[in-house]
Amino acid sequence: MRGEIFRRRLVEIGAFDRSRKIRSEGEDLYLPILELSAGADEELAKIGEFEVVLTVFDDEPPKETVEGLIGRKPSFEVVGEIAILEDPDEEAAAAIMAVHRNVRAVISPLSAVEGEFRTRRFRPVAGEARTATIHKEHGLRYRIDLERAYFTPRLGTERLRIAELVRPGEAAFDIFAGVGPFALLMAKRGARVVAVDKNPDAVRLLRENAALNRIEDIVILEADASDLAEEFEKRADRIIMNLPHIGHDFLGVAMRIAKKGGVVHYYAIAPEDDLFGRDTAFVEEAARASGVEVEILRRAVVRSYAPHRYNIVIDFRVEKPSKEAVAPPSL
Ligand code: SAM
Repeated sequence: MRGEIFRRRLVEIGAFDRSRKIRSEGEDLYLPILELSAGADEELAKIGEFEVVLTVFDDEPPKETVEGLIGRKPSFEVVGEIAILEDPDEEAAAAIMAVHRNVRAVISPLSAVEGEFRTRRFRPVAGEARTATIHKEHGLRYRIDLERAYFTPRLGTERLRIAELVRPGEAAFDIFAGVGPFALLMAKRGARVVAVDKNPDAVRLLRENAALNRIEDIVILEADASDLAEEFEKRADRIIMNLPHIGHDFLGVAMRIAKKGGVVHYYAIAPEDDLFGRDTAFVEEAARASGVEVEILRRAVVRSYAPHRYNIVIDFRVEKPSKEAVAPPSL
């Protein structure tokens, strides 16, 4: 399990050497790496113990790679049977289909992730012309439609981190749930989950995904997160806030639905020269306005987002004044 978390993290930071096969010897697992960038050691140490060693992976013939076929490294990611290729390059698309035998469609974005529902428009480049697929992650299957609802496989490690924090029976709210990759994994770990999204297509897919994975103990709501505060006041042990560009507008709602001691996982996009300053200030400001105290538990980079911009997470605990506060003794 740890080996898989290491492997995913190495892929995310661009350090995993896909041309070699992972090797195990006794209790040790050898993951082939290209080069570790500055700061990568620290990131990896958070997962567990590791050592960088020189070793030989050549007992297996190197795997065919896209780079090996066309002499360059196009930017792409695979979601289920679909490869999302940043530039609509037909030679690269053909190479991807040759190397990744499960890929049936190669598509390229016509737009950035946009709008309230955080979706993208695509054009077909090779194979079938479709944006719908089934993607597997951490033992669960997800129906995805990339044009209708947000999904990225690049948050897989983060979703596992959150799922490992979940205690059976806790009340976990995913207030920007999309097709459910945080919500359903938390439910699988025994949380009583409330999953909310405003996009009707995301909610339809989320319901289908709950059924596909036989997860019944989950409440799925098509709603605006800003309307949750009254109905769910002080109900959440854990809240996932994955709407990175404008999530700060909803911090007050999260603080209201958190129980005393509830934990919030707040995601944002931040520039590399001020990774946590602006969003820590947002959290502290919202706490003051909501009359609660917060304890910051963790601040970390989740993944790179764009040149000089990072997807970050701030985990914080919400402490609420107890109603039964003892009145000061009268004189
Ligand atoms: N958590 C999911 C994931 O990891 O794949 C989806 C995250 S996506 C970045 C943000 C989601 O928030 C989108 O599915 C979007 O439709 C939803 N959303 C945007 N504004 C919302 C609002 N006011 N209330 C509820 N959901 C909202």
